[in-house]
Amino acid sequence: YCGMVAIVGRPNVGKSTLLNRLLGQKVSITSRKPQTTRHRIMGIHTEGDSQIVFIDTPGLHMEEKRAINRLMNRAAASSIADVCMVIFVVDGLAWTADDEMVLNKLRRGAGERKTVLAVNKVDFIKDKEALFPHLETLQQKFAFDDIVPISAKNGTNVDRLLDMAKACL
Ligand code: GDP
Ligand code: MG
Repeated sequence: YCGMVAIVGRPNVGKSTLLNRLLGQKVSITSRKPQTTRHRIMGIHTEGDSQIVFIDTPGLHMEEKRAINRLMNRAAASSIADVCMVIFVVDGLAWTADDEMVLNKLRRGAGERKTVLAVNKVDFIKDKEALFPHLETLQQKFAFDDIVPISAKNGTNVDRLLDMAKACL
């Protein structure tokens, strides 16, 4: 039985906003300020007699000098251990060294888990076609099971992520 899904990604890509959207309520604090989520936040989506536990992780950090960053990285890494699916959230407008680092962690830790790339903040992107080359590059970086352009803020395609999570129950 498998009902846990981890939401990973660097700070500020919209992980907490996505969790709230998936659950339809505000359980995780979102903020323009990076590092707002400092602990693992879990939320349970219940439908009929099935449940999916979504885990919002603190953003992963390159910079491990500060103790709080080390702790946050550890919390994020340990939350991948028990899940059946990982949603890797990136910002549709920016790919950074921090994203690359999260991807490297995924390469080492994802194993057989279903991995979905959620390209967030597409509501921000006026020229949607400009996104395609970017998506292709990302697909070449890692064999994601799926790539879904989303807007955690507006809810665009968030139902697709939920369907994929349900499919691993
Ligand atoms: P986290 O650090 O990855 O948990 O990111 P948050 O969920 O706290 O979001 C960081 C910032 O991005 C906040 O200001 C959010 O309102 C904003 N944000 C998140 N999702 C979206 C989205 O789909 N579209 C837009 N335009 N902004 C978003
Ligand atoms: Mg957060």
